[in-house]
Amino acid sequence: MIKIAFFDAKDYDINSFNKNLTDEFEVKFFETHLSIDTVSLAAGFDAVCVFVNDMIDKAVIDELVKLDIKLIALRCAGYNNVDIEYAFKKIHVVRVPAYSPYAVAEHAMALLLTSIRRIHKAYIRTRDFNFSLSGLTGFDLHGKTVGVVGTGKIGRIFIDICKGFGMNVIAYDKFPAKDSGIEYAELDEIWAKSDIISFHCPLTKETEHVVNADSIEKMKKGVVLINTSRGALVDSEALLEGIKARKIGAACLDVYEEESDVFFHDFSGHIVNDDVLARLISMLNVIVTSHQAFLTAEALENIADTTYANIREFFKDGKSINEVCYVCDKIATCPQEHKGKCF
Ligand code: NAD
Repeated sequence: MIKIAFFDAKDYDINSFNKNLTDEFEVKFFETHLSIDTVSLAAGFDAVCVFVNDMIDKAVIDELVKLDIKLIALRCAGYNNVDIEYAFKKIHVVRVPAYSPYAVAEHAMALLLTSIRRIHKAYIRTRDFNFSLSGLTGFDLHGKTVGVVGTGKIGRIFIDICKGFGMNVIAYDKFPAKDSGIEYAELDEIWAKSDIISFHCPLTKETEHVVNADSIEKMKKGVVLINTSRGALVDSEALLEGIKARKIGAACLDVYEEESDVFFHDFSGHIVNDDVLARLISMLNVIVTSHQAFLTAEALENIADTTYANIREFFKDGKSINEVCYVCDKIATCPQEHKGKCF
């Protein structure tokens, strides 16, 4: 039986993983994040299963190796929270590359529509029997230009949704998809031409703070930014300054660079210490959801299914088609791709 320790396990994780559990696996759910302080909980298990805010740095990897853990199974697509380069040849890492790109792309559009049509304001007003329309003027999406950064699985679905709204789409990708029919442009052109910019690229050294004071300066006045990718794509302080300067028309954020200390937890009875987040949330043109874009029934089912399949395959054959390593990250096309084994 393969023993799996789940970290940062929430009620919806426990439900979906228990529903898909078979007698090949023995599972234990820990509410806490995986970190150097909690890694000892993994003792006696074969694999750890982690999510976006578990920090698997060098020290945690060393401890996992000492505990004879064979596999880090990410139950998400992004893997910026794992030191993949350090893990190479020490411990294998698998992920769920696609569980429902529709969930994330649709959430990005939901945020955009909510923001520009002021649905969040209207909802609060009508619940209070305030039927005034004052201050609720929005704008049509039809005919507007949307810049999409990252044209992988989620980015392309978002592009299709935008086309359905009659929007003009331009996109940037470090590795443009040939024959996709997507109109690619350099980042400076995206900044200069877009009324709306949506981010669907991974967090890497290159994309970290791709939204910063310089890029904001190059954007159109009133631009709407949507980030459902990873928080650190956006320099939050620069974003705040851009909003205060009336340069940024609205920001729709499902992710935030310092989210690991706050997102997924209930702080409604507490004082939040993060001044930047508090100020962003206080802005009438900022909508924050707490890394919720993936959260659909279909996605949870696929996450549980693929995670168990990855773990099963790894312990049976010593490889997995969903293994990640830093080589893939560096050259985009993994030379080992077809062998499904990184080392
Ligand atoms: P994907 O791998 O299919 O696509 C990513 C695209 O980004 C690829 O086309 C790649 O070429 C491109 N890219 C790589 N480096 C780039 C760079 N420097 N600049 C521009 N583009 C670059 O991934 P996906 O499934 O579409 O997911 C995209 C991102 O969405 C993930 O990396 C993850 O961070 C995020 N995500 C968020 C949630 C959520 O709940 N908010 C859920 C799933 C994924």
